[in-house]
Amino acid sequence: MSSQQMTVGWIGLGNMGAPLAARLVKVGYDVQVWNRTAAKAQPLVDEGASVGETVRDLAHREVVFSMVSASKDLEQVMLDPEVGLLTGESVPKIVVDCSTVSVETSKKIREAAAERGTRFFAAPVSGNGKVVAAGKLSVVCSGDEETFQLVQPMIESLGRSVTYVGDGEAARLVKIYHNLLLGIYTQALSEILVLGEKAGVKREAVMDFINNSVMGCIFSQYKTPAMVNLDFHPTFTPILLRKDFDLGLAEARKHEVPMPITNMTRDIVESSIGHGHEQDDFATLLLIAAANAGVELHSENADVTDGLEPQ
Ligand code: NAP
Repeated sequence: MSSQQMTVGWIGLGNMGAPLAARLVKVGYDVQVWNRTAAKAQPLVDEGASVGETVRDLAHREVVFSMVSASKDLEQVMLDPEVGLLTGESVPKIVVDCSTVSVETSKKIREAAAERGTRFFAAPVSGNGKVVAAGKLSVVCSGDEETFQLVQPMIESLGRSVTYVGDGEAARLVKIYHNLLLGIYTQALSEILVLGEKAGVKREAVMDFINNSVMGCIFSQYKTPAMVNLDFHPTFTPILLRKDFDLGLAEARKHEVPMPITNMTRDIVESSIGHGHEQDDFATLLLIAAANAGVELHSENADVTDGLEPQ
C-alpha cells in the first residue's frame, strides 16, 4: 500500500497541530482528527477532515500523528487505561509523535506501543504555525528505519526538510538541543536590541542588518515584527519553552555537562512567566531585558516582514 492510501489520524489541534494536520488534508490524505477542546476541530472539518469523538475513534486509522503540549499529556492520550489510544481494543499500525517530550516518556510509549504491535516513531519539529503554513517547517525524526520508509512521504509533506537521526529516541535529544539554542538566541537578540535602544539605534535597523548578515536566519526574520513592532501574539509560549529548557538541563545534569548560559536563560524565561507573559509569545524576553535596563519600549510601527508568506 502506498503512503498516500494509508488512513491518517491526528491528535492535538493547537498552534502546531492544526496547521500540520491541514497540510496532510491538503495533499490528499484521508485524515480524522481529535482535539480535547472539540471546537478547535471545525476549521479542519471545513478543509475536509473528519472528526473522532474520542481518541480511541482514531485507533482504526493506519497511522496516527500526535502533537500535544508536554510529556504528561502525551502519556495521557496514549496510555491512559480508560481513554488512551494504545490501551483500547484496537490500535493503529503506526503512531508518529511530533510533540517535544522527554526521552523517558518517548521510550515508555515506544515500549507500550510495541507490546500492542504498534510501531512508534518520533518526529518533533522546528518552526511555528506560520512557518508550517509557509512550507518551511523542519522535522527531525528517529525510530526504526523500516517505519521511517513507510511514513517518510507523510512527514515530508509537513514541511521543507526531514532529518532522520537513527533509531530510538535520538530525535527527542536533537529537538531539545535545538530549543535551547532558540531560547539563548532570542535572549541574546533581546539584549543587543535593548543596548541599541539606550544608544538611540532603532530596532528596525539592527534587525535589518542582522537579517541580511551571516548571523541572520529564517528565525531572526520571522521574529522581526515581534522585536520591532512588539507583536507578541503567541506562536510559542514561555511555558512551553521553559519545559524544553528543563528537559535540556535534566540531560545536562545526567551527563555532567556545565551549561551556564542555558541555566541563566532558563531563569530569565521563568521571570517572563512571573511577569505575566505566560500566554504571550516567548519573544517577550525582549520586554524583560528592557525592564532590567530600565527602558520602556514602544512599537516602531515599521513596515517589516516576517518573511513567511503562505505557500
Ligand atoms: P498549544 O497551542 O498549547 O496546543 C497544545 C495541544 O495539546 C492542544 O491541542 C491541546 O488541547 C492538546 N493537549 C494538551 N494537553 C492535553 C491533554 N492532557 N490531553 C489531550 N490533549 C491535550 O501548543 P503548540 O504550540 O501546538 O505545541 C504543541 C507541541 O509542539 C509542544 O510539545 C511544543 O513544545 C511543540 N512545538 C511548538 C512549536 C511552536 O512554535 N508553537 C514549535 C515546535 C514544537 P486543547 O486544545 O484542548 O487545549
